[in-house]
Amino acid sequence: MEYRVNRRTGDRISIIGMGGHLTPATEIEGVETLQMAYEAGINFFDFAAAESACFDYYDKALGGARKNVFYQIHFGTDFSTGVYGKNLALDSVKRTIDWQLTKLNTDYIDYGFIHCLDTEEEWNKYIDNGVLAYIEELKKQGVVHHIGMSSHTPSVAALGLDTSLVDMLMFSINPGYDYCHGEYAVGAAGERMELYRRCEKEGVGISVMKVFSAGQLLSEKTSPFGKALTEVQCLQYALDKPGVLTVLPGIMTKAELLRILKFNDAAPSEKDYSMISSLTPTEVKGICVYCNHCQPCPAGLDVGLINKYYDLAKVGDALAADHYQRLDKKAGACTACGHCDKTCPFGTAQSERMKEIAAYFGA
Ligand code: SF4
Ligand code: SF4
Repeated sequence: MEYRVNRRTGDRISIIGMGGHLTPATEIEGVETLQMAYEAGINFFDFAAAESACFDYYDKALGGARKNVFYQIHFGTDFSTGVYGKNLALDSVKRTIDWQLTKLNTDYIDYGFIHCLDTEEEWNKYIDNGVLAYIEELKKQGVVHHIGMSSHTPSVAALGLDTSLVDMLMFSINPGYDYCHGEYAVGAAGERMELYRRCEKEGVGISVMKVFSAGQLLSEKTSPFGKALTEVQCLQYALDKPGVLTVLPGIMTKAELLRILKFNDAAPSEKDYSMISSLTPTEVKGICVYCNHCQPCPAGLDVGLINKYYDLAKVGDALAADHYQRLDKKAGACTACGHCDKTCPFGTAQSERMKEIAAYFGA
């Protein structure tokens, strides 16, 4: 398992985590799935769960390893009916948080999340209801270690980032939504990428939800790209986005978990998602998406990474600029052979861009 570090908290987080859709047929299956996940190196678990029953499984599976795992718990969920609900009233939030802490047999929350705010009205309501103040109070008391936020809307996520309170953002990222297709395709492609870059620059980690667009991308019949993507391609797509630390697919059984874990051993060709170029929105045509479909570069350049560092440096990310300077092979080593120009499905004039990047960094 690969791990990425949240720069604001220092937490070392597995690139594959688990979403809250643990609804197996039996409790034993649920407990064993969690145990298998932990043994495979998964250490990040989300609790915007589909059903309340799964809360019983975690202490049984992970209780002895509580200090080694991170719990992302949402202030605004409501499980009083046995299934997921959303309730932003302060008394409901307090009741649900107490219930979750009891069920999970823990006295702290690694990431206390402002839950699923998609409009400015919801954001204002959350503050007016005193829920954000409640999370801050629990943080002062040491019950909440870090504050996070979940949203499907770039402009509302930005409101959270503006407070400087947020150390982790849960956001819906997949090539469908990023390319304006699907239920939560909120914001234009450029606006969404701007949000990811801002997170990377400010050190705010992103945990990814809806990585398969609720399964829409995995079927030829429903994929907007005209053919099905694989789980591996979708995971790689999300992990290539700036700021992303972990992807949280909904996993219900051991069999599903084993399928997801195949990502760890997948070959680069299996991770190649460049077929999404068929739907590139006009506004982002010609822009590198860091997919590395154009590899191998005869001069040994990591084209995707060089482009990512450049884009981040241009928005003021000093760390990315520093990472660029530490690369063995920089844009200045490009021989303008034209291989990437010919093979890039997104129409980037990459050899020209390498000149631009080399001039920007002076190397
Ligand atoms: S130049 Fe094209 S193929 Fe290469 S990493 Fe960028 S988007 Fe992908
Ligand atoms: S044009 Fe430059 S970056 Fe692209 S493949 Fe050739 S040497 Fe590599």
